[in-house]
Amino acid sequence: MSTFQAPKGTYDLIPPDSAKFLAVREAISAPLRDSGYGYIETPGFENVELFARGVGESTDIVTKEMYTLTTKGGDQLALRPEGTASVLRAALEANLHKAGNLPVKLWYSGSYYRYERPQKGRYRHFSQVGAEAIGTEDPVLDAELIILADQAYRSLGLQQFRILLNSLGDRECRPVYREALQTFLRDLDLDEETRRRIEINPLRVLDDKRADVQKQLTDAPRLRDYLCDACKAYHEEVRALLTAAGVVYEDDEKLVRGLDYYTRTTFEFVHDGLGSQSAVGGGGRYDGLSEMIGGPALPSVGWALGVDRTVLALEAEGVELDLPVTTSVYAVPLGDEARRALFTVVTELRRAGVAADFAFGGRGLKGAMKSANRSGARYTLVAGERDLAEGVVQLKDMESGEQAAVGLADVVAELKTRLG
Ligand code: AMP
Repeated sequence: MSTFQAPKGTYDLIPPDSAKFLAVREAISAPLRDSGYGYIETPGFENVELFARGVGESTDIVTKEMYTLTTKGGDQLALRPEGTASVLRAALEANLHKAGNLPVKLWYSGSYYRYERPQKGRYRHFSQVGAEAIGTEDPVLDAELIILADQAYRSLGLQQFRILLNSLGDRECRPVYREALQTFLRDLDLDEETRRRIEINPLRVLDDKRADVQKQLTDAPRLRDYLCDACKAYHEEVRALLTAAGVVYEDDEKLVRGLDYYTRTTFEFVHDGLGSQSAVGGGGRYDGLSEMIGGPALPSVGWALGVDRTVLALEAEGVELDLPVTTSVYAVPLGDEARRALFTVVTELRRAGVAADFAFGGRGLKGAMKSANRSGARYTLVAGERDLAEGVVQLKDMESGEQAAVGLADVVAELKTRLG
């Protein structure tokens, strides 16, 4: 071990487990790529104000969890705690919304940073794959995104996840509800911090996990009763589209999510095998966000799925991913001349698209064969001086144990045939 360790709340992705993360990113993004979403990559840090305004001054993310820094030039930056504000900022900056092709559909994949109390499934550095559809108000778009996330999880073989769905209303009806809720909450027996929350973000109080708080909330006014007709109709349409697509969801009135920018449709993917950090992904509609960060009105919807928690969910369900083969052929040279000859074969195999590896460092047969076994290679190539003198290499099928001498000049073609 070196003198250093990964910082608290972070961990390294190392082989072989790191392959699962790549496979999860691939599985989540594949349905998006097939549905007109283009890849976007934004910087790992942004002007801190973007998140303060975009994510919301009253959220835990902004008040407690952001990694902020002042550069030598005096700029106030923050490591990105989430993806939506950055993606929308980038889309506006590049005028993508003016190209006359709305919605602008984008997907992304990357690292996010939150100064949270670490525990299993909750880290200070984590990774997400996300999607945003910018500039269109259409329930089909909300449904599309939920269906694509569902498709991604099913393609991974996950089964024990549930989709929670809610509508948060819009700028017409939500303020009316907000006031009714505040009036109700102010009469409850709550601690100082929660009382403060009533004034800045009362909907978040509904999300409080403590039993003594939840007990007092049974008779809280329900957002459902306050939704305006337009929001109600919109939500019904989203629900009907999901049902028509065979996507099962649960209506969850308490689902408010931790970010300020959501309007109308909100949803969360939860997994029942993960304990307290059960949210594997979430998202919703954010019709006001563009204006909040100085852009034009651009109703939009999006989600982000957590890669770390998706991997934990796979492990909880005991799903073994069908990971791509890393090494098909492993070459073991015995002696200097064999080393040159087999390395040439390995290079040719690689150029022919066959995954091949090599016993480096002039190791003995026993140790090298151990590495060959560990590599999972289907075939090994072994050659010593006598083989080379005869112009052959020994080709061994690691599954059947059969071994045959194959001409050095024919071995690439032979392996290509055998591996199909
Ligand atoms: P959020 O932006 O909070 O809705 O997060 C979206 C998804 O990102 C969550 O459902 C998690 O899967 C993942 N996520 C958020 N915060 C963390 C964290 N601290 N550690 C690991 N994953 C996280």
